Amino acid sequence: MNFTSKDYVYYIKKMSLKFQACGDYITSLDAATGDGDHWVNINSGFSKLVDISNELENLSITDMFKKIGMTLMSSVGGSSGVLYGSAYLAASKITIGLEVITLPDLERILRAMLNSIMERGSVKVGQKTMVDALYPAVEALKKAIASDIPEDQALTNMKNAAIDGANATKHLEAVKGRASYQINKGVGHLDPGAITMSYQVETLADCILSK
Ligand code: ADP
Ligand code: MG
Repeated sequence: MNFTSKDYVYYIKKMSLKFQACGDYITSLDAATGDGDHWVNINSGFSKLVDISNELENLSITDMFKKIGMTLMSSVGGSSGVLYGSAYLAASKITIGLEVITLPDLERILRAMLNSIMERGSVKVGQKTMVDALYPAVEALKKAIASDIPEDQALTNMKNAAIDGANATKHLEAVKGRASYQINKGVGHLDPGAITMSYQVETLADCILSK
């Protein structure tokens, strides 16, 4: 794979369309375990990114990630604005000088995002958050790269791991975030942030696969 800023902006646009179409579903998930605003937060963030897409696609990869991070940080409410903002700023820091994103770069970028979310949110794997979709995706990608399987298969494994991880949050107890205030800690409900994270990993993988 060799993914450029233009390709990444194409992904942002696809992702924004997908978010626009799933409002009722994501809002119902966050209404069950949180305060019901997760979809509004993430959807408005991606709409803002689409608004500045002409600017984004002409930036270097590092500057594009920085601009995405600053935009999400400053304009998106809820925990997700801060968490995604810091994730993209972390991605910017490790992509200085990078002209195209290769598969190993993708692993480094997603891992930097994961570490940043875990640090910023003081959250571990298995605590019913967006991390539970991203962590297995990064691990699946790492394993695929180490075993030298074809790139298409590696990307498919990554996306399936994110989807499985998000679905598995149904049985987890929340330790951080609003779902942890519930008497049953959200057990029996999917975590909205993990679902929207799996949508992002899935859509990114599909955009790379279709290039
Ligand atoms: P808020 O919970 O502040 O209303 P959102 O509704 O936008 O923020 O996002 C909720 C999602 O954010 C949750 O479903 C969960 O996946 C994720 N989340 C919440 N708190 C944390 C945290 N401390 N660390 C990582 N992810 C978190
Ligand atoms: Mg919320």
